Parts: sequence; C-alpha cells; structure tokens
Amino acid sequence: MDDGCLPGSRGLGSEGRSYLAQSVTAIKGVGPKGEELLSSLGIATVGQLLFHLPMRYLDRSTIIPVASARPGVEGLFKGRLSSATIHLGRGRRRMRGSLLTDDTGSIRCLWFGGFVWGKNWLDDEEVLVWGKVATKGAPTIMHPQVERIRGEIEPLLPVYHLTAGLSQGRIRAWIRAALSVLPGDVRGAVPDDIAAKHRWPDLRKALHGVHYPSTYGSARLSADRIRVEALIPYQLLVLKRREELRESSSQPMRGGVPALRSFLHALPFSLTAAQSHALGEIRGDMANPYPMHRLLQGDVGSGKTVVAAGAMMVSLGHGHQAALMAPTEVLAEQHYRVIAPWMRAVGHEARLLTGSTRKSERKEILSAAASGEPNLVIGTQALIQEGVAFGDLALVVVDEQHRFGLAQRAQLAGKGLAPHVLIMTATPIPRSLALTAYGHLDLSVLDEMPPGRKPVHTIWLEAEDRKRALSMLCRAIDEGHQGYVVAPLVSESDQLEATGATELCQELSAGVLSHVDVGLLHGRMNGVDKERILYDFTAGKIKALVCTTVIEVGVDALGAGVVLIDGAERFGLAQLHQLRGRVGRAGQEALCILVTGKNPTEDAERRMEALLGTNDGFILADRDLELRGPGELLGPRQHGRIPGLLLTDPRLVVVARRCADQIMEDCRDDPTRATDLEALVATDLLGVLEAG
Ligand code: ADP
Ligand code: MG
Repeated sequence: MDDGCLPGSRGLGSEGRSYLAQSVTAIKGVGPKGEELLSSLGIATVGQLLFHLPMRYLDRSTIIPVASARPGVEGLFKGRLSSATIHLGRGRRRMRGSLLTDDTGSIRCLWFGGFVWGKNWLDDEEVLVWGKVATKGAPTIMHPQVERIRGEIEPLLPVYHLTAGLSQGRIRAWIRAALSVLPGDVRGAVPDDIAAKHRWPDLRKALHGVHYPSTYGSARLSADRIRVEALIPYQLLVLKRREELRESSSQPMRGGVPALRSFLHALPFSLTAAQSHALGEIRGDMANPYPMHRLLQGDVGSGKTVVAAGAMMVSLGHGHQAALMAPTEVLAEQHYRVIAPWMRAVGHEARLLTGSTRKSERKEILSAAASGEPNLVIGTQALIQEGVAFGDLALVVVDEQHRFGLAQRAQLAGKGLAPHVLIMTATPIPRSLALTAYGHLDLSVLDEMPPGRKPVHTIWLEAEDRKRALSMLCRAIDEGHQGYVVAPLVSESDQLEATGATELCQELSAGVLSHVDVGLLHGRMNGVDKERILYDFTAGKIKALVCTTVIEVGVDALGAGVVLIDGAERFGLAQLHQLRGRVGRAGQEALCILVTGKNPTEDAERRMEALLGTNDGFILADRDLELRGPGELLGPRQHGRIPGLLLTDPRLVVVARRCADQIMEDCRDDPTRATDLEALVATDLLGVLEAG
C-alpha cells in the first residue's frame, strides 16, 4: 500500500497513523480500568503502548533439564506439576508445594503463601516454570513463576516497567493484541539509506522485533529503530523552530572590521584555536541576512568574554548597536570593567545600565540608545524591564542563559530589527540535550582552555574538620593567594543568605583571618557597594572575600587562588563546579576546599566525589544529568515533559537529527509532501511534543 506522501517506503501511512493514534481502549482487553492503569505510565494511545519498550527480557531459549538443577541454578524448566499439597477453596486450588517432573527427573517447588492454580488448567498439563534452585537444603525451586504453554515458546520474554495494579501478563497480552492487528503501512520515517546503514528493520518489523525478539541482537536493533522513530517528530519540531527564526531578516554584516583586528592584535594573549573557531562561526552567522541564534558554550575560564567582545565589535564596526545582558548586577559590572576599556581602545563606547545607575546617567544612556548611535550597552534585566528602546540594535549577547526566560530574550530581541543573538553559557550541556532542548540554536563549543591552566586541587572535609579547613584557607592566603569563602546556600532566601554570609564574615575576621582585609559580598547589598568591593578584591586590596553565590556566575579575579565552600552539600554539582572555576584563572596553582555539614546525604557525597574526580565540566555535566535527571538542567520552564530517552542516548539523538534534516530537505524539494511532514511532526509517540 502506498501512502503517497513521503518518498520510498518512508512514512506512517494514513492507516498506520490513525491506528497508532487511537486510544488504548481500542485494544482488545483494555477497558476503562486498563486505560487508567496505562495512563499512569503516560500511555494514552496504541502507539504509545507499542513504544513502551521492554526494560529487559527473560531468556527462555534454554530449558534446564531437571536433572541438572544444582543449588543456585536459575532459569526455565519445563515439565508437569504433580500436586503435593492442594488446598481447595471456592473452586480454586492453591498449591503450596509440588513436584516438577520432566524426562530427566523430579524436583520440588515451593511457594510462599501458596500458588493459585488457574481455573481451567488441566491437572496434568505441561507447564513452564521459571525460578531459582535454593542454595541450601534439599533441591527445591523457590517460589517459581508458572506459565501455561500456548503454542511456541518465545525465546525472549519481555519484562516491562509497570505501575501498581498492572501485571507483566496483562501488559504483554495487550501489547500482543495491539501487534496482532498492526496495519501493513506502519513503516516509519527513518530515511531508507540511514536505516540500511544501521541495519534497522522497518518500523513494523521493529515493533514485533522489540516485543518478541528472537535474539538479543535483533531486540537491540529494533529498539534503536523505535527510539529514533520516537525522536524524529521532536527533531522536526526543533528544525521548524529554527526555520521560523530564520524567516525574519537582519542586517548582514560582511567584510573586514578594522576595530576587531586591532583589538585582537592588542590583546596580551592570542586566542586559542577554539576561540578563533567560535569567533569565525559567529562572524559567519552575522554575515547572513537572517538572525544568528547561537549558543556559545565553554567551561568556566575557557574565555567566552573575549569571543563575545569580538562579536560586539563586528556590530559596532558596521555602525550598529550591541547589547550585553548579564544575569546579575555584579556580573554586568564586571563585564563593563573588562570590556569598556577594550572598546575605548578601538574608538567605541560602552555604557553600563543597571538598577543602580543614577537617574541623570540613565536618561542619557536611554536617549543615546534610542538615537541608534553605535555603542554598546551592558546591563541586567533592567534593559528589558525598563523598556529601553534601541534605535539600531544588531546584536544581543546574553550571558549565562540559564537565568533568562525565553520570553525575556524575545522581548529584548524585539527592541531592534531582528538582532543577531548570541547566548553564552558555562554550564556544559550534554550533546543530546543541546540537540533537543536547545536544538533550535547553533552551537559553538570552547573545548580548550587558555594555555597554562592547571586543574584546581580539590579537597573535601567534613564538619568535624572545619577548623582544619579554615587553617588551610588561612595558610593559602598567607602564601599570597586571594581567597573566596562561600557561605552556605540558604533555602532560596537571599535575606537569610546575606545574614549567613555576614555572620561568617564576622567569624573569620574575628578569628583565623583577623590579620588580613576581609570583604563581604552578597545579593542584598546595593550596586555601588558591590562594585566597590569587587573592585577592591580584583585590585588585590581585599585578601579574602566572604560571599554568597553572587560570585558563581563569571566573576573573574585573577589573584584568587583558594576557594572554601562552606556547606558544600547544599549546592548542586554544576554550581560547585562554577564556584571552583573562580580560582586559578591566571594559571596559578589553586585550591578548592569543600566543607560539608553534619551527615551529608549519599547524593551529596556522590557530588563531592565527582568533583574530586575531575575538573572537566563536560564530564561533570554528564554526571549531573545522571544524578539529577534532566529536569533541573532544563530549568523549571521545560520540566517534566521531555522523557529521559531524549537526553540519555546522544548517539540516537544525533541520528534522529540527521533523519529530520533529510526529511525536511525532501519536503523542500517537493512541497506536496509538506502536509505529510505536518502529520509526522504531530505524531506524538512519546507524549513529548508539548515541550516544544
Ligand atoms: P569565561 O569563559 O569563564 O567567561 P573569561 O572570558 O572570563 O572566561 O576568561 C577567563 C580569563 O582567561 C580571563 O582573565 C581572560 O582574559 C583570560 N583569557 C581568555 N582567553 C585567553 C587566551 N586565549 N589566553 C590566555 N588567557 C585568556
Ligand atoms: Mg564569563
């Protein structure tokens, strides 16, 4: 049957599509109760039930002769049960112990609480018995599962993830029923050449092959095919979003930029290969007549700021405006301190606009922005909240995008005429996540540190050793390092956190650090005070800075060689890695002291161990994903609806993206296929598409 849409044998034919979209109640044996049970597994349609893959299989390819049932042997036996103990009651027979006999001999079976003999089972029927022979005493199979033999014995029996009230037997029967009437045109969307390359069966065969495989190898191939099928609609959605972003037009900025050349020339270092490459990609994007949407990802200290500054110089150099948004005032101020002199040196102006900017200055900045005068405005959310109107905004750089909502980004972008957007993040995003949750963005990765960086030596001490931790901090400072002391994270309240930091600061300046200048930095201080403290710390006047996580994002003080994190168990792995990334930024030997409170949880201990194990943010990000699940990495905005599958098998996500690219390409070549594409995008096989 030809579905008349996607080329070749591709596509879910219309019959297949409507079959998979039906409610599970269309399956023989699934009633309202079954529907309810399945819905608690997130399964509403026939397609979703068929895409509910087995967790594992019971291997029934070998049947163990009773004679070789040595103690400890586990597996499948086949024979007749002779009733040793039968309790009759209400027409049912309950068997406590029994003898299993096959051609080779007999062995005892024992059930705790008894085994209920099926109503219509024959007395002397041959059955399958799955269980383990006790390791002690007379040979006995303990509490085995018993199954009637109906037709052929499948070599691998699927075991599914269940919910309370649902048995393996029932879900197997439902899936079997759904498979038995599967239409012939369920072929799937994976392009033929990609399927062939992976030796994948078509979707219909794969569905049979994953639930009732003949070998483990065919089960795996079938499962991969099905997972990719499930991922394709999501990838198509992502690609469509990308195309939509490209529908608006922007200022193409082509040609050399003298300011950029002299800036790079004047830097005291040369760019790493990764930085040059990223800057090249960004410039390539900015030369397009549609807006850039690029994520610049690089571990803490990999040097994203220079790259962003280069991009901003391209915009200014072409006579347009640029804006840089930071998540906190502290960071906006730091960016301003670093970037403004760079700009000035090549004849451009940068302005700082935050909640603490004086009224008169604010007015001046706003009118300059509105006039379209080619300068750079660095700020916080205030840039959006206060309705700054840009006359000619051609580039928006967003630092640490995790703190920004999509809506905010769009709002700022709306101020100009489709500006190019560059988003920077130090939180390494695993590739699978980058292709899904951030799949509509292009990605540049700084996978290389500036030369000479050494891993930060990391030590973990527990509450009893806090004194020792403090004296290590003190020694490092006496050796000439500057140090951060991070106060424990307090339940989302920055007031309490500020109090905690203030107390910690008093404790240290009255105690081990009484001989040096100790500063205090927290989110409740006003902008001017924050700036002064940071300035003093960066300039080396303050030796130790007690702070809350305001330093987490991006603070760059080159003299800092030691960081002590108090109450480290309260921080997430990514956050701890960020905090640790504040030290050793000039290439000096640096130390991170993690101090956990009393009785840290096992999870917290695993986080500490992960940090001790590596300085590589990418490895930690993968570990973080394992420990926390995807929800937190994605942020509250996108929680929930994206199943683990999308995030945990990067290999398949990459293939699914390739498939989606090819499908889009085919549809572009033949516009009549567009409707089929729509339908494919709407195929919600995992129940995930809401997330897009
Ligand atoms: P992050 O990527 O964490 O934002 P920064 O941009 O703050 O990192 O850079 C960290 C430090 O490394 C800064 O002091 C910066 O001047 C320096 N730096 C950046 N690129 C290089 C380079 N190619 N060689 C040497 N130092 C560099
Ligand atoms: Mg930074």
